[in-house]
Amino acid sequence: MVFPDYFADAESSFNDAEFVIFGVPYDKTSSFRHGADQAPKEIRQASWNFETYNLKTGVDLRDIKFHDYGDLDVRNDDPEIMVKKIRDFTSSLLKKNKFPIAIGGEHSITPGIIQSFPKDIAVLSLDAHIDFRQQYENEPYNHACVIRRIADHINIENIAVLGIRSVEKEEFEDAKKKKLFCIDSFFIKENGIQKAIHDTKKHLKNKKIYLTLDIDVLDPAYAPGTSTPETFGLTPSDVIECIDGFSSQLIGFDVVEVCPPFDKGETALLAARFVRYILDRTWTSHRA
Ligand code: MN
Ligand code: MN
Repeated sequence: MVFPDYFADAESSFNDAEFVIFGVPYDKTSSFRHGADQAPKEIRQASWNFETYNLKTGVDLRDIKFHDYGDLDVRNDDPEIMVKKIRDFTSSLLKKNKFPIAIGGEHSITPGIIQSFPKDIAVLSLDAHIDFRQQYENEPYNHACVIRRIADHINIENIAVLGIRSVEKEEFEDAKKKKLFCIDSFFIKENGIQKAIHDTKKHLKNKKIYLTLDIDVLDPAYAPGTSTPETFGLTPSDVIECIDGFSSQLIGFDVVEVCPPFDKGETALLAARFVRYILDRTWTSHRA
């Protein structure tokens, strides 16, 4: 069965919308498995599975004004050009006071979005990887260098990475030396996600936060369809609790690294569910 090609319930016009969803079908730097460029389409299709009413929060998505812009034309661009195009696009959204929600694509799309925000924001990354390499395979905009590129734009003290469990030794030592705040998935397992949220909140204070969700932060048992899976990951409820914990500070969101060729649909479903939950929680807390 094929559903409409836009994100379910995104019935607002661009001008009326408070939130704008856009797809970024990009997969040129993936280091292991390929296919993340197919994710925007699959996540949109998966979004039609869900009811508009959220039993947990009492919010009905039909009350929220959101628009699906479609995909950005970056598929064949070199990474640096892709990043610039995304930056220009999100800058235009921010000028119109839209809340950007990007559906990747691989993680290399995120620095372009961050570059369109003021330098005093904070970034929270949920990821199995620390993504702190200066470059990878001679490419500074590789998906393994995302946090490093973000730290070129904002103060590294205002970045937090939760859920890591796979690093290169030198990369990790470099991150520690530069005082990158990160919490690994083993700490979260031992102390609970609420403790991690508490510590992160203390670190980022009351700054505005851009949230980037690399779907591989989840255990592959929940999200097998990703380009670089790592065991010992977070649960979907952990991610939901993070969204709850930071929703009042959020100014933008992306979900990246879903890789449909390795998915039976469950990873795309989770990604779609998280987008819907972000809309719900952010809309609610921005109204409060
Ligand atoms: Mn990543
Ligand atoms: Mn990752």
